Amino acid sequence: MIVIGGGLAGLAAGVALAESGWRVRLFEQRPFLGGRATSYVLPDGEHVDNCQHVTLGCCTNLEDFYRRIGAAGKIKFFDRLLFLDPQGRRGKMQAGFLPAPFHLTGSFAAFAPLSLLDKLSIARAMLDILQTQGNPADLQEKGGISMLEWLRRRGQTKRAIERFWRVVLVSALDEELDRTDARFGVDVFWKVFLSNSTGYRMGVPAVPLANLYDGCKSEIERRGGEVVLRAPVRGLKMESGELAGIRLDEGREETADAYVFAVPHAVLAELLPQSMKQSDPALSNLEKIKVAPITGVHFWFDRPVMKEPFVTLLDTTTQWIFNKTALYGDSNGQANTALTGQYLQLVISASYDLLQKPRQEIIDLCLEEVRKALPAARNAELVKATVIKEAAATFSPEPGVDRWRPRQQTSIPRLFLAGDWTDTGWPATMEGAVRSGYLAAEALLRSDGTPLKFLQPDLPPDGFIAMWLGKHTALVDSPDVRRQSTRALIGLRKNGEKSLDSETYVREPRKGDRLRRFGS
Ligand SMILES: Cc1cc2nc3c(=O)[nH]c(=O)nc-3n(C[C@H](O)[C@H](O)[C@H](O)COP(=O)(O)OP(=O)(O)OC[C@H]3O[C@@H](n4cnc5c(N)ncnc54)[C@H](O)[C@@H]3O)c2cc1C
Repeated sequence: MIVIGGGLAGLAAGVALAESGWRVRLFEQRPFLGGRATSYVLPDGEHVDNCQHVTLGCCTNLEDFYRRIGAAGKIKFFDRLLFLDPQGRRGKMQAGFLPAPFHLTGSFAAFAPLSLLDKLSIARAMLDILQTQGNPADLQEKGGISMLEWLRRRGQTKRAIERFWRVVLVSALDEELDRTDARFGVDVFWKVFLSNSTGYRMGVPAVPLANLYDGCKSEIERRGGEVVLRAPVRGLKMESGELAGIRLDEGREETADAYVFAVPHAVLAELLPQSMKQSDPALSNLEKIKVAPITGVHFWFDRPVMKEPFVTLLDTTTQWIFNKTALYGDSNGQANTALTGQYLQLVISASYDLLQKPRQEIIDLCLEEVRKALPAARNAELVKATVIKEAAATFSPEPGVDRWRPRQQTSIPRLFLAGDWTDTGWPATMEGAVRSGYLAAEALLRSDGTPLKFLQPDLPPDGFIAMWLGKHTALVDSPDVRRQSTRALIGLRKNGEKSLDSETYVREPRKGDRLRRFGS
């Protein structure tokens, strides 16, 4: 079988199918794997991520995928999220001793950048999400409603919207609240913050992104397949109205028993002949899926300017600062103190306003914000800077977008789709991309009459939520959940955690968690 596209969706489908006995040939147009979630070398020799990528505890399929390809040990998980406002007030999100959904209550109550009134309004909206198990009735309104509208209906204060809901959701969903379907926004809070005590933990790669995918090529090749780089697919070969192959450069054609197209939706729309779009209505709306931008700004200072591994800024254009020097530090998560300088990566999601701005203007703006937020940066020299604008970073999760997202199984024989933009129920994330790849592999095997299950279950509810959902008795029979509930109740630190600095904790992903090998 043939996979077109070596991003996370294509890689997940390719690895899953190779492991289930198919000979996979994967064609990727670029000289490296990873698609949007990759890294490359700049002309000056610096190795940079296309943009900082993070995962969360609730991303069970991405975690499974990293484990399959031997990359799980390259992700560091953090228990504490730090926020900083322009007045220098700090807030943190960190699980305390209470079980879910109250695990973050302590840090939320002490969150200095919000007033009591803001917190009460947030608590009311959270209660609504809790009582409806993440499915409030107004999410079902025809065409969907925007997250901003949903928040207005729940009387949120201006500051609660700006300093809480917007901060979390613009980063998670890459879109402004008035252009985000409330279904995605509410789901983030249910899965990440409320239904269990570990969904909010943030995983950050400790290596350049491209290094995560070494295991994909070897896994596919070990099972008789091949990964062909610098191989752009230029078109489809049709015979008697049926898909009969793909066309590459220099007149090369390749045929297979089945094809998984794991390219961005705009590319697929160009590759598909009109006849195919007409024969499957799900393929005729690809152009209706809009895109949203993300801008990454890379700063190299002549000396260390921050200690924390990452921090979220409030009320500024810059949304996140990642301390790449610390994150790429030794395997214990300790910053490499032998290095005198420091490399920071800044992230600005839904960066529509920056798209037309010149590079230097963006650097000046962000540098000013960094120097305000980090006192040590005020006297430090900025040695080097670069800006990477991704105009089509993700699909825009605008209200009603799900109706344009096709399923992985098409009505066209032998044609399967993967990509974060396909129908996964998830927004455009690495988790969504891996889910789509697993779903495409499942669809292909189903139509072959050899069904296998690859999709991993969501994190199980824990704490009071598990009890409240009436699943407590069944769930505590699982050793994994028993471990998690006990930890939440008695506030124990988990195995393998190490202190990165005095307040931040890091752990390696657990071996064997929720792992279900193919065919087992
Ligand atoms: C700046 C930025 C920051 C992000 N931050 C995060 C984050 O922090 N957390 C998170 O979860 N997600 C994040 N995302 C989203 C995440 O990167 C994507 O959701 C995910 O990587 C999409 O994977 P994919 O395989 O669906 O698509 P892609 O990664 O786009 O893969 C498609 C592949 O197809 C190849 N291709 C295209 N045309 C052809 C052709 N004709 N022939 C052969 N190959 C072709 C492309 O080169 C590419 O490798 C971010 C995205 C960006 C851009």
